[in-house]
Amino acid sequence: MDSAFPMKGFISTAWLAAGLLLAACSPSGPAVDGTQDTVEQAVENAAEPAGVVNLYSTRHYDSDKALFAAFEAETGIEVRVREAGAAQLLETMASEGDQSPADLVLAADAGTLWRFKDRGLTQPLAAEAADSAVPETLRDPDGHWIGLAKRYRVIAYDPQQHAPEDVDEMADLAGERFDGELCVRSSANIYNLSLMAELIERMGADEAGAWAEAVAGNFARDPQGGDTAQIEAVAAGACSAAIVNHYYWVRLAESGSDAQRASAEATALSFADAGDGVHRNVTGIAMAANAPNADNARALVNYLTTPEGQAMLVTETKEFPVVEGAALPTGLSAIAPGPESDVLLAVLGENQAEAQRLYDLAGWN
Ligand code: FE
Repeated sequence: MDSAFPMKGFISTAWLAAGLLLAACSPSGPAVDGTQDTVEQAVENAAEPAGVVNLYSTRHYDSDKALFAAFEAETGIEVRVREAGAAQLLETMASEGDQSPADLVLAADAGTLWRFKDRGLTQPLAAEAADSAVPETLRDPDGHWIGLAKRYRVIAYDPQQHAPEDVDEMADLAGERFDGELCVRSSANIYNLSLMAELIERMGADEAGAWAEAVAGNFARDPQGGDTAQIEAVAAGACSAAIVNHYYWVRLAESGSDAQRASAEATALSFADAGDGVHRNVTGIAMAANAPNADNARALVNYLTTPEGQAMLVTETKEFPVVEGAALPTGLSAIAPGPESDVLLAVLGENQAEAQRLYDLAGWN
């Protein structure tokens, strides 16, 4: 993924078309006057209808490939994807500066999108159809990014040990019931930073810091692994509750692996209240600061907010669509997230540094 942006396919297609045209125009004898024009024209004609959009993505799903292929079939615009982790893509874009070919950045977590904006790597999307389709709280107030798919940060727990009412609030995890019972991932993970950012907004920094300290005091083990590992740890009895994004549990429940399905079957999800509704976050998309193909970028963003685009976007991820009328992926129909937070997602970015500071003070590594 570190190689130069793959321009080859597009350019060679155009020149191939030019070559064919040239061969057709001059079946015999030396080139005549005007040949050069014909070649240039052919390149232009071959290039124009195709068009491209360069997408930097932190995602890697086969369903995304199918989604981009569907967009390409409908619009003729080729989606060129560069995949890498969020931190790497951010540094790549920063080092490319005004030479960056990136048109769009697709990333999980509003906190990540906020980081790109905070580094000056984004600009307003101005994709009108998308703006009207996506709720205002799921959009950057300056219009640099919008949410495309929702995820909830919830509690996975052992239903043999806890009743639903024992885990219906994030605040519950700070209680004595969970002494030595919690599994979590690192506080530096963006999902945990965004959760804490919301708690700061709801409770204030003092109370949120006290929550983090009490939760850290209830850890069954040092923070380690990703969200899937936390669910598996609950299923294996290493702990009886964990903080995870909902879709990791759904993927285990739908897995082809017996062991993974067993982990989901041994655990339950609680869409716990995080102060004023369930903590919800997004996978979203930002307009890159340079965006050499801004119109094509807007076309793709608009497509991603159509019911068809939305449904394809969440097929494999098991997130929830943000647009009315989009079909739910399998595995979600039985899940009712409950009243969700309406916090402006931009707040999750604004409180990010404070969130890390409070986790550090709490000893949550
Ligand atoms: Fe994830």
